[in-house]
Amino acid sequence: MEKITEMRQSTSTERATRSVVILGATGSIGKSTAEIVSRARGAYRVEAVAGGRDPQALAKLARELGAKFAALADPAGYAQLKEALTGTSITPAAGEEAVIEAALRPADIVVGAIAGTAGVRPTFAALTAGRTVALANKECLVCAGSAFMRQVALTGALLLPVDSEHNAIFQALGGASLETIEMITLTASGGPFRTWTREAIALATPEQALTHPNWSMGPKVTVDSAGLMNKGLELIEAHHLFGIEAGRLDVVVHAQSIVHGLVSFADGSVTAGLAAPDMKVPIGHCLAYPYRNRTAARRLDLTAIGELTFERPDLERFPALRIAIDALRTGQGLSTVLNAANEVAVEAFLNRMIPFREIALVVEEACNSALAGGDAHEPESIADALAIDGCVRERSRRALKQRASVQ
Ligand code: MG
Repeated sequence: MEKITEMRQSTSTERATRSVVILGATGSIGKSTAEIVSRARGAYRVEAVAGGRDPQALAKLARELGAKFAALADPAGYAQLKEALTGTSITPAAGEEAVIEAALRPADIVVGAIAGTAGVRPTFAALTAGRTVALANKECLVCAGSAFMRQVALTGALLLPVDSEHNAIFQALGGASLETIEMITLTASGGPFRTWTREAIALATPEQALTHPNWSMGPKVTVDSAGLMNKGLELIEAHHLFGIEAGRLDVVVHAQSIVHGLVSFADGSVTAGLAAPDMKVPIGHCLAYPYRNRTAARRLDLTAIGELTFERPDLERFPALRIAIDALRTGQGLSTVLNAANEVAVEAFLNRMIPFREIALVVEEACNSALAGGDAHEPESIADALAIDGCVRERSRRALKQRASVQ
């Protein structure tokens, strides 16, 4: 905290341009980051961008942002990327190692916004190099939270939360020490099925699950939100980020998505982070931290909203949240299993292979079989976490195939 105060005191109007690497540049968070960076020319310079499978979109973004390096995860797209960058000084590259190279380019801040477990290795590489990382990928911490936080402690790298709830809590904490905190509360919008019956939720279609009432996000996190699995993943994320145990973490459903997170202290004080539901708020906060830059994020108008409501989550209608809470209480090994099975199940749901209710069933089965088989253990390293992740994926895919052949 002392260091931060010093930095605040030295704030001047002539701040140095901050160099940025955007991992997951063509996704939802990546695009919002690009928008903030483009509007604040002079405040930021883009060193590198990395994308998944769309060479044209990545090349367009790299040109617009004036990046020096563009990496595509899919090696098959290299020729197209190279072609699309002809006549520029942007260096094209492709493959998983190219994405890691992007993560390691010299930069003041790396935005970790690759969706899913694919983000684990590149984000970890940036932290290992001591980079400040603005983390939008919660799967990194759900899959390998202990290894990530150990690396943060080892390198002294700064890990800033982009996830809106964690960003709000980080701001509400104000550097308070852990022993003064009674409870950290994450809010959940309740998603599109907040008022639906259990039977209706069970048979929801991908289109219905992808219609989030408040937030515009990528498909994986939107489906996770519909079943409240997202909130379960976020509890695990908060546990690692803030170093706080399950017993002092709570979830409250707040349909308006205005209050994103709360910190309750030993003296009865409660601080909260509020903002309009717009990811440009937490992204802009992380990019400028510990300063604040102007962004075009939506502004909060409380009188226009009028009413803020809060209710307990219903663990009967949303079993995914219960399963995630159990995994958090059981230990890190199980959250690695939960994360892998969930990614497979969400993909199967989006491909119409399974109905919505089976996402939670697939995840619970994977957790139970890991516990029964003695496979649930704390991953020692990223390699260990990814090995567990790979095994669980394979097992879950096999279980899904068997399910499909029975039906
Ligand atoms: Mg969130």
